[in-house]
This record gives sequence, structure tokens and C-alpha cells, in this order.
Amino acid sequence: MKSIIVFLILFNGFNFETAELIQKQVVSTYGVTCMVINGHDLPERFSVKKMNRIVADSIVSHMDKMNDGKSIYVGLLDDDICTRARGYQYWGIFGYSYKSGCVISSYRMKDSDSKLTLIRLMKVTIHEIGHSFGLGHCLTPSCIMNDAEKKISTVDKEEMSICPKCKRVLQIILE
Ligand SMILES: [Zn+2]
Ligand SMILES: [Zn+2]
Repeated sequence: MKSIIVFLILFNGFNFETAELIQKQVVSTYGVTCMVINGHDLPERFSVKKMNRIVADSIVSHMDKMNDGKSIYVGLLDDDICTRARGYQYWGIFGYSYKSGCVISSYRMKDSDSKLTLIRLMKVTIHEIGHSFGLGHCLTPSCIMNDAEKKISTVDKEEMSICPKCKRVLQIILE
């Protein structure tokens, strides 16, 4: 197995204890080394002020500058994020992934039940990291790599684990 390290980077004061719980989940799902790093406040220029959203694409290129190419960088934050990718005009999203990393925001997952919020956050993080490893979407509804199609109800139907089929693909990728 390749020794890929997953770094969870906490931006704009994302809670450290929450990140440690996500870290445990990453380790148990993927069996990789995962570390939590306290990040910093993101520059103002990353935000679309009138919408109060931070552009995920900007965070992605920001993290890419720190990446040695052997690690996966996962940005975590509570602010609303959006993307300009695929022709979307600052479309609000849960998470965004690219080859060497991903960005996840808790903003659109919040529930009065903080436990449910945490589970959603873990699921979306595991899903986006799966993409960063090279996994595509899976048709199995319970699989974590099922496409949430931007709906939180779909995320709630998924289980925390990857299905046997995706597991086999992942094994080949990580070999
Ligand atoms: Zn996806
Ligand atoms: Zn699957």
C-alpha cells in the first residue's frame, strides 16, 4: 500500500475536537495515516462578499501550494462555500474535491441535533476523500460513494462505509 498521508486542515477556526473525530473516521475507513493541522484564517479575497460565501476553487489552489504531491489535503471550515466549476455561478456546496485534495463545509449540514451534523460532516468528508483517491460515484444507495446530488437527505441514507465493489477499486488504486 502506498503511504499516502491525509492532512485535515482547519480553516477559520474550525473546531479541533470535531476534526479529531473526523480523523478517527478517516483512519478507520481508509486505513491511512491522517493528521490534523490548525490552519489559519482565509484571505478576504477568497470570498464572494455579497453572498457571504467562500470560493472553494480558491481554497483548492491555496492548499495545492502547500502540497508536496504525495499527500491529500482536506480543508475543513464552517463558512458557506461555493464553486465556479462546471459553469456554476458561485453555487453553494457541501464539499468539493480535486485530485490532491478536497474542501468540506459544515454550513449546509447543520441540524439542531449536533450528532447528526457531525455524522453528515464525516460522511461528506469520507466521500470527498474517496474522490481524491480516484474513486468515482457508486450506484449502490448505501455506499458512501453514492452521489448525494446536492441533497442532504441522500447523505443521510448513505452508510459510513464504502461498498465491497468500491473497496476493491480502492485497493487497486492504493497498491
Ligand atoms: Zn461525489
Ligand atoms: Zn460503492
